[in-house]
Amino acid sequence: MTDTNPESNTASTEPRSSNFLRDMIAEDVRTKKYGDAVIQTRFPPEPNGYLHIGHAKAIFLDFGLADEFGGKTNLRFDDTNPEKEEQEYVDSIQKDVRWLGFEWDRLCYASDYFGQLYEWALKLIRAGKAYVDDLTADEIRKYRGTLTEPGKDSPYRDRSVEENLDLFQRMKSGEFPDGSRVLRAKIDMASPNLNMRDPVMYRILHATHHRTGDEWCIYPMYDYAHGQSDSIERVTHSMCTLEFADHQPLYRWYIEQLGIFPSQQIEFDRLNLTYTLLSKRKLLQLVQEGHVRGWDDPRMPTLSGIRRRGFTPEAIRAFVGAAGATRTNGIIDIEMLEHFQRDDLNRRARRAMAVLRPLKIVIDNYPEGQEEMVEVANNPEDPAAGTRQVPFSRELYIEQDDFREVPPPKYYRLSPGKEVRLRNAYFVTAHSVQKSADGSVVEVHCTYDPASRGGNSPDGRKVKSTIHWVSARHALAAEVRLYDKLFLTPDPGDVEEGKTFLDNLNPGSLEILTGAWVEPSLAQASLENPYQFERVGYFCLDPDSTPGQLVFNRTLALKDSWAKIEKKAGA
Ligand code: ATP
Ligand code: MG
Repeated sequence: MTDTNPESNTASTEPRSSNFLRDMIAEDVRTKKYGDAVIQTRFPPEPNGYLHIGHAKAIFLDFGLADEFGGKTNLRFDDTNPEKEEQEYVDSIQKDVRWLGFEWDRLCYASDYFGQLYEWALKLIRAGKAYVDDLTADEIRKYRGTLTEPGKDSPYRDRSVEENLDLFQRMKSGEFPDGSRVLRAKIDMASPNLNMRDPVMYRILHATHHRTGDEWCIYPMYDYAHGQSDSIERVTHSMCTLEFADHQPLYRWYIEQLGIFPSQQIEFDRLNLTYTLLSKRKLLQLVQEGHVRGWDDPRMPTLSGIRRRGFTPEAIRAFVGAAGATRTNGIIDIEMLEHFQRDDLNRRARRAMAVLRPLKIVIDNYPEGQEEMVEVANNPEDPAAGTRQVPFSRELYIEQDDFREVPPPKYYRLSPGKEVRLRNAYFVTAHSVQKSADGSVVEVHCTYDPASRGGNSPDGRKVKSTIHWVSARHALAAEVRLYDKLFLTPDPGDVEEGKTFLDNLNPGSLEILTGAWVEPSLAQASLENPYQFERVGYFCLDPDSTPGQLVFNRTLALKDSWAKIEKKAGA
């Protein structure tokens, strides 16, 4: 994990690309639309799952834009659906927002407003703007009509104010079973906007709420709660994703009928990524059915998953900032996110040597029992990161891929008779191999040139390849978890009939290597620091690590030029 201190990590240092939301707020500030009131925004997650990378965009806009205009942002839990909501989610959401580098002004809950919302419902009933309906959910759906056909009035629509008040109060006091009655706004059953066809305001639900317990057995619908919660908090700009655009007339209707603070809803495009699902319902299914190891599985697009994977808040903010905000939905290539992450890690990650699939080499002319230290830069991009000492000895591990007994064309790494550089150490030349019964190479015998210490030969001799290594005697055993895309297809939700998104899962999304060796300095590896295993990729320590058994996650592979050559050759 790369938990960082929010103090040293505020979002305001990143360049901000232009977006229409900023222009709109700037205009409202200029015209003093809200007088001298400060810009107030809110981030309103429903605590029914963990936050994902899409939420990072909403968070960045809500907090970032308010901050830019000297305003404030509330974190408000939209907790109107007790059956799906849990304290675990409330806690994880707070942790994730802070990890991204943002701090809220007030911590709010829609459930704090249940009393006020109830009073306002009574007010709408008294004004003849709301009624209790006894139709079943099915009947309500049938009466609603379609996009091409107007709806029909419910037979209960014209109940008297007195009867409505009486029934609604009895709904609240628990007299009626779940689903037997609802409170509806009385708007227009012929409206071309289906959301305006007498939407349900309250439903009966005898469920225990994670905050209000059994105090309520009626719960407000999202549309009835959201705008009024904004208004109570004097939210000036209520930013949400485009699927709520059709709800905006209803958002405004409630506020106007109640004559309360005129918060304004503004919609922007959802963040969508290739090879990624950003639906809490589907992510929950992946967790519940065990397709991943949990909400924080490093293959998940949740903030807790990508944090465990080694992604950093700096890179995520830079990415969502660059994604900007528009009024049309699109889909961003996952490689753009990876690009921002590589860029950040390349600057900050400490280098280390690790051999994932080891092959032993023995340097026959290096004295047995001898060892020495070579000095290595911690980060060539950052001299301030200093250097460290890495032990070198007669027996070393290199990657199996870095040796070929019979080298293919253009293969410049170690092979019999070929000389290569061991990074930061010496030139070595391979001479012979030892094989196991099945014919695979288990050991390569080499000689080294003692004059080439540090990686250069005094006679100016050139080698075509530099490979990494660890000293067999000093190396630490490690488990390395390699991750690939969780889904095989760019749009995993797009499936033919009879299939589900689960059919698009990548069976090879996790590969566990248990026999890796890493240089001894990684005994001090911490969850906070990213590492670049030289020539292999970016890695971070996994919380499963113990002092006796290091576990590393691959955050991202380096771009591998050899893999490209091989691919081309194969194609
Ligand atoms: P899901 O559809 O997966 O259930 P949601 O939109 O219901 O997600 P909420 O908890 O209601 O999740 O979201 C909180 C805020 O985050 C909302 O304002 C919502 O518009 C925004 N949001 C959710 N998903 C995305 C996304 N992919 N891109 C940008 N903003 C998002
Ligand atoms: Mg939602």
